[in-house]
Amino acid sequence: MKYCRFQQNTQAHYGLVESVAGRDAIVRILLTPPEEAGGDVESLRTRRIEPIAMEEAILLPPVTPSKIVCVGRNYREHAAELGNEVPTEPLLFFKPPSSLLAPGGTIVRPRVSERTDYEGELGVVIAKRCHKLPDGEDTRPYILGYTCVNDFTARDLQNKDGQWARAKGFDTFCPVGPVVTEGLDPWTGIQVETRVNGEARQSGNTRDFIFSLGVILRYISQIMTLEPGDLIATGTPKGVGPVMAGDVVEVAIEGIGVDRLMKRSSAEALRHPKSLCPSSDRPLNNFRGLAQNFRLLPTHLAENPRQQPNSPFPRLL
Ligand code: MG
Repeated sequence: MKYCRFQQNTQAHYGLVESVAGRDAIVRILLTPPEEAGGDVESLRTRRIEPIAMEEAILLPPVTPSKIVCVGRNYREHAAELGNEVPTEPLLFFKPPSSLLAPGGTIVRPRVSERTDYEGELGVVIAKRCHKLPDGEDTRPYILGYTCVNDFTARDLQNKDGQWARAKGFDTFCPVGPVVTEGLDPWTGIQVETRVNGEARQSGNTRDFIFSLGVILRYISQIMTLEPGDLIATGTPKGVGPVMAGDVVEVAIEGIGVDRLMKRSSAEALRHPKSLCPSSDRPLNNFRGLAQNFRLLPTHLAENPRQQPNSPFPRLL
């Protein structure tokens, strides 16, 4: 099952995504947010709609987490490229929900930063409450699905501050989507790729995680309760680097699709890759072709109903 979140007539909806005549389209509205399904998304009531092609939809972030928990340095080669030791236990930090950016949105570079970097990552959406999961407990039932995340980072501020809240937390610094999908297996390996202006910059596989997804979820749950809908960013492969205004950044994950960002020529406003692309089950070596099939959507501002009580997008459904 794959779903997105989209705006229609000022209302935000979750939509079931299926292939229609070879193109991904929204074919049903989920009448209950998937994070309220207790892990049984298939049981949710839906309403059929006239199919809306993904590239025609006004996409919103497909997640509304209470928190975004990120894992740093979870690939050995990435730790080495920034001159860091390989951690002996998971290294955690937060991004605020206000940093979420909808597919097709624009990443805005803060004036106080001279270097802003992409970090393509596998995102994990929590299905049901996790609290002190014991060793050996199977964590798969706690996972609702997977999505593309760009852990966008003001690298100079990260190095300057020590604490990472500022460097990781600016509005628009968490492009996510375009869909959440189940049926992936990070334990056996999922390819994660980031491209800038069509050129591959990162290519890693989750089989190379230093800490497996099960270890990560059990570790986090010893510290804080993970709630349904919470988002985990699982770390980035080697190859991080800066992007400039006008660049197009894409995060592609095998089995999910491409999250494409566009940066405009303004020195101040970086267009960040969006999750513009419909999901796809095609193998990774077809991602380039997939990206060529997409067009950019109109720009949306980052939106989070929980953070913006006056948002034009009311609480879901
Ligand atoms: Mg990261």
